[in-house]
Amino acid sequence: MSQQGYVATPPYSQSQPGIGLSPPHYGHYGDPSHAGSPPGMMKPAGPLGAAAPGGMSPQVPSPPGPHQFGQNGAHPQGHPPQRFPGPPPVNSAAPSYAPYSPSTQSSYPSPASTASVTQLASQLNAMHINSYGSGMALPGQGLPGPPAPLFQGLPRPPQPSIMQPGSQVLPPPPTALNGPGVSPLPSSTHRQDGLPGPAPLNAQYQPPPIPGQTLGTGYSPQQASYGPQMAGGQLSYPGGFPGGPAQMAGPPQLQKKLDPDSIPSPIQVIENDRATRGGQVYATNSRGQVPPLVTTDCVIQDQGNASPRYIRCTTYCFPCTSDMAKQAQIPLAAVIKPFATIPSNETPLYLVNHGENGPVRCNRCKAYMCPFMQFIEGGRRYQCGFCNCVNDVPPFYFQHLDHIGRRLDHYEKPELSLGSYEYVATLDYCRKNKPPNPPAFIFMIDVSYSNIKNGLVKLICEELKTVLEKLPKEEQEETSAIRVGFITYNKVLHFFNVKSNLAQPQMMVVTDVGEVFVPLLDGFLVNYQESQSVIHNLLDQIPEMFADSNENETVFAPVIQAGMEALKAADCPGKLFIFHSSLPTAEAPGKLKNRDDKKLINTDKEKVLFQPQTNVYDSLAKDCVAHGCCVTLFLFPSQYVDVASLGLVPQLTGGTLYKYNNFQMHMDSQQFLNDLRNDIEKKIGFDAIMRIRTSTGFRATDFFGGIFMNNTTDVEMAAIDCDKAVTVEFKHDDKLAEDSGALIQCAVLYTTIGGQRRLRIHNLSLNCSSQLADLYKSCETDALINFFAKSAFKAVLHQPLKVIREILVNQTAHMLACYRKNCASPSAASQLILPDSMKVLPVYMNCLLKNCVLLSRPEISTDERAYQRQLVMTMGVADSQLFFYPQLLPIHTLDVKSTALPTAIRCSESRLSEEGIFLLANGLNMFLWLGVSSPPELIQGIFNVPSFAHINTDMTTLPEVGNPYSQTLRMIMSIIQQKRPYSMKLTIVKQREQPEMVFRQFLVEDKGLYGGSSYVDFLCCVHKEICQLLN
Ligand SMILES: [Zn+2]
Repeated sequence: MSQQGYVATPPYSQSQPGIGLSPPHYGHYGDPSHAGSPPGMMKPAGPLGAAAPGGMSPQVPSPPGPHQFGQNGAHPQGHPPQRFPGPPPVNSAAPSYAPYSPSTQSSYPSPASTASVTQLASQLNAMHINSYGSGMALPGQGLPGPPAPLFQGLPRPPQPSIMQPGSQVLPPPPTALNGPGVSPLPSSTHRQDGLPGPAPLNAQYQPPPIPGQTLGTGYSPQQASYGPQMAGGQLSYPGGFPGGPAQMAGPPQLQKKLDPDSIPSPIQVIENDRATRGGQVYATNSRGQVPPLVTTDCVIQDQGNASPRYIRCTTYCFPCTSDMAKQAQIPLAAVIKPFATIPSNETPLYLVNHGENGPVRCNRCKAYMCPFMQFIEGGRRYQCGFCNCVNDVPPFYFQHLDHIGRRLDHYEKPELSLGSYEYVATLDYCRKNKPPNPPAFIFMIDVSYSNIKNGLVKLICEELKTVLEKLPKEEQEETSAIRVGFITYNKVLHFFNVKSNLAQPQMMVVTDVGEVFVPLLDGFLVNYQESQSVIHNLLDQIPEMFADSNENETVFAPVIQAGMEALKAADCPGKLFIFHSSLPTAEAPGKLKNRDDKKLINTDKEKVLFQPQTNVYDSLAKDCVAHGCCVTLFLFPSQYVDVASLGLVPQLTGGTLYKYNNFQMHMDSQQFLNDLRNDIEKKIGFDAIMRIRTSTGFRATDFFGGIFMNNTTDVEMAAIDCDKAVTVEFKHDDKLAEDSGALIQCAVLYTTIGGQRRLRIHNLSLNCSSQLADLYKSCETDALINFFAKSAFKAVLHQPLKVIREILVNQTAHMLACYRKNCASPSAASQLILPDSMKVLPVYMNCLLKNCVLLSRPEISTDERAYQRQLVMTMGVADSQLFFYPQLLPIHTLDVKSTALPTAIRCSESRLSEEGIFLLANGLNMFLWLGVSSPPELIQGIFNVPSFAHINTDMTTLPEVGNPYSQTLRMIMSIIQQKRPYSMKLTIVKQREQPEMVFRQFLVEDKGLYGGSSYVDFLCCVHKEICQLLN
């Protein structure tokens, strides 16, 4: 395994030696002149809203004062529509070249003669449909599964500990925790685990304590590449604070109780932001603005910078120098979701079409025309905001300037006045200089014995008949341009000819899975509408065809290979939908063996569990990306299937992995069908290349997501959909200037679902400052956690988990210590002072540290951990926020007359009550927790049963009871579900019954049953680290 690959991994290489928080010349903070944005970057609110395409509501409220600038023209109705006549909205643009013609298929070579061709109809006599219902109940694995056997009775509530209530805690904000008593756990515990975790309940899964071990001495040599600063005495920074106030002496010694109510509350932070910024218009007119939190609903108006729905940053003010960046250790990163869904009351992207001229670009750095280009010399030339090169304006693009040097058509051209827009790409942006063919969807169904037996194959086939009606299409088109194809497989592959003129579908079997070829071209990928009757015929026949099959073995890599070869032969990008259940043990490339080994947990070899078993899948993923083949996998495991291997291709090709453990028809089909429908219909771009350009002084150095990179700059993606985000880290390579700021342009070249080649451009301008205080003021904790999660989960493949946890703790302490040292007002050494923007960083960081990827738990399977690791790698900020800190809502106090969600409560058992009912959601799971003394009228209202004892906890959907409680609760559940990429399975949990243990793992502020500190303990631990750093 290559360690070298991680030498350059930024978060950890950032913390190089020399991070000492010391250099006193950075300490002169507080000059208010640095706080504002240079006026040159502010854009008067333009009349853009007036040109909003149909869906734009003119009802947007007036923007709040401080965010508004200039003539306050953001009101759409305030401007005559003709002021923006130029570019048509995206959906009304004419293609710049001839649409795809299906006739190209006729040029394919004829079917290979070695395939055994069988008429379907001849096989069907004497076959009968296997009935539903034999759902297999198999031993549990993963979440939410049966409880671990250790659980007995009601767990005792966590003991908030450590500090006395009497210790003076400053009221937030700014949050200050203090008291000489903030005392961490004994250092030996902490040093061994990296976290002040509780004693392990189950020694089998815990590392043996190593007496006297410290962070410094515990590393194996390879770890140096992950965090060089960690080598030797990492947690102390000798000489780090030469000028530090004398009173910052050592960690506090006293042990006192800390009141959980006095420490920063994520709920409070979320609610405060909602109260101040919710429901308002957020205009992106000024550089370096910190947007509302992801949890706050507002209307976003593009006034020159990309919407935070597309790009969020860890900080909106970059430090001017790399020394300063090293001093603060705040990662400089952007989380980019280029195809994010935009609500109907916001303007969709405009499409710019320069015809054969193509997009206007800087000659030197190739940045696309954008609001950061400065026109000069009467409009004949422009200076690039990224590389400063002065370019001639192409004659077709010339326009005069007004008295302030702005082009007269400024507000008529999206690329001059908006943060985000699209360009029609010319032929030189297409493969082989040919317009692309529209994408194809290939459905590939595992028809091995168990899938037939449990009714899954029949369920899939039935559902496809409906969902194929909803294939995505361009808004102006009547039918979808996407072609469809079908393959079934067990240890051989069956291709189907569904050409519209056939009376019956035809099957061709490929038995040579060692080198898969495509046995038919004409008739394999078809237009659904044209071939509808043959396709329905096929879908009716598939379950019967294999009803008598006893084949248990499956292949997997050849399935992907076959789909990719079919797309390659048809010369189009596309998406494979694979429905698979088992470990592929049949003799074929990518054959896997069961290598799950719990003994590796908490050893240096634990990382092996997250690595693919063979490199077949890695090279397959590379081929898929090269051919624009995205793989989405629906997995129905009843035992270990090696998700680390099977999930690799979906992850790297921008696909999605859905996993249904121990799939049971009556309980899980709804969740699966929702996912399938949603996945087929979602907005997606194919065959994409993303390029991040930056202004001088810094550059993108690392990328995390469903991506593949053949060089250091081009981010290749087989596809990218509306839910996938790429996290990009930036590093300095020179000084940044406060006046020009830091500019980022993200360009995604892709093929639309209609087969058009386009460029999607997102621009964002950030501030730069030489004052650390400005940097801390502009941080976004939710984006920081997204970055830390992805960088840590990437490192999991190569580093011992313990090292990764320690680095996370260390970096958290370092970021906060730097603030304390350089930005906070002088105060007692023992006080914990958190920057306002990072108030909840410790609690969120603790949630990340306790996630099962970084900290194993006995009830979580290896596959579940690999699954969660892969999921997080492509998450956007909103999804990672909910995933790490679940939403917990009191239901018993519902106002049934209100349509608003109830205010959430903190994820701690101490916040629950016996008389209460609570709903918890994290984006993957949903739980309805019922206190033993839940009010009977609520029980009746929600479940239509007389008492707590009558509630059937097997249900995964709530009954529709004609009652306000039932209606309101189901409405709340659907609101929570709405914007989430995965359908959440509902689990009903009764207090003091066994499944409660699974639920309790989501109460992330509490101490974990198998390790993982409580929030209070972790805060104390971080405080201790900070004190050591400051000392
Ligand atoms: Zn340039």
